[in-house]
Amino acid sequence: MGLVLGIESSCDETAAALVTSDRRILAQRIASQDDEHRPYGGVVPEIAARAHSERLTPLIAATLADAGLGLDAVDAIAATAGPGLIGGVMVGLVTAKALALAAHKPLIAINHLEGHALSPRLADPELQFPYLLLLVSGGHCQILMVEGVGRYRRLATTIDDALGEAFDKTAKILGLGYPGGPAVERLARAGNAKAVALPRPLLGTAEPHFSFAGLKSAVLRAKQTALHADADIAAAFQQAAIDCVIDRSRRALQSADMPTALVVAGGVAANQAMRRALEALAGEFGLPFVAPPLALCTDNAAMIAWAGIERLGQNDPLDCAARPRWPLDPDAAPARGAGVKA
Ligand code: AMP
Ligand code: MG
Repeated sequence: MGLVLGIESSCDETAAALVTSDRRILAQRIASQDDEHRPYGGVVPEIAARAHSERLTPLIAATLADAGLGLDAVDAIAATAGPGLIGGVMVGLVTAKALALAAHKPLIAINHLEGHALSPRLADPELQFPYLLLLVSGGHCQILMVEGVGRYRRLATTIDDALGEAFDKTAKILGLGYPGGPAVERLARAGNAKAVALPRPLLGTAEPHFSFAGLKSAVLRAKQTALHADADIAAAFQQAAIDCVIDRSRRALQSADMPTALVVAGGVAANQAMRRALEALAGEFGLPFVAPPLALCTDNAAMIAWAGIERLGQNDPLDCAARPRWPLDPDAAPARGAGVKA
């Protein structure tokens, strides 16, 4: 049986976890930096990097203590090596390198997106390749065919904002605070989605790409007219976002070789209304719908440790680089109209 220590520090969560090859999470700790970033309404990279460097080492020690294990017990140390805010990634990766060197353990450098892409397999031993993955988080919005470990075909990406970013900006416009996604979802329950007309960017286009910048601007204009209740704007925004996600995912399912399942991952997968819509879409195609538990959807170290389990034996050198950008499918053609963020 394999045992991997996973380390995650690519955004505003400092996390460590111990995961076995038979899918047991022996211990995991996660320290959120929401309180540090809240005054700024978003993640401040420099503050994030400092917080990671203060917290990570004691957090790893506590995680090992929770499991009653020492570093000698692990088979490898897996750390997020990108993509993400580079200061935080460097803190996590350098910490992993130091531990690997001191304890004579192999280092496995993990692509954070691969952590998200494989996390459904940690939760569900039945899930087989290939599956269609909708990855929707604060920084990413992609549809991928997950064909195997290290084999990802990107079918779609966003040409501007990520979906989680659109939720966060909507929350900011409505004065709901940070992080915004859960607050928008809560307020939307009290609103009427039909009360405000909002656009559905790229709906119906042949390639299943996403765009949310125009929707965000429309939310701002709706708020500025002062004609609508905030709850109605939240409900209309959420419905427009869901309509886009469903249309784009349906397009991807129509164009792809049939996968074994429709899977959602990333922080926005916490949205219950979107989960229900995706489940219905999977049903249209006769596919199971797989959504990992919420704790595995948002940034966490168990998914990084699990990706390390999937990659056991594929060690990386101690001079491997931290990468601010690291596409899962380097061969994917850029989306037409995409800026540098794609
Ligand atoms: P991640 O980048 O994977 O850590 O996910 C964080 C992102 O998910 C943020 O942009 C949140 O606003 C978003 N998010 C979290 N919960 C929800 C929710 N219930 N509905 C919509 N977005 C959410
Ligand atoms: Mg993430």
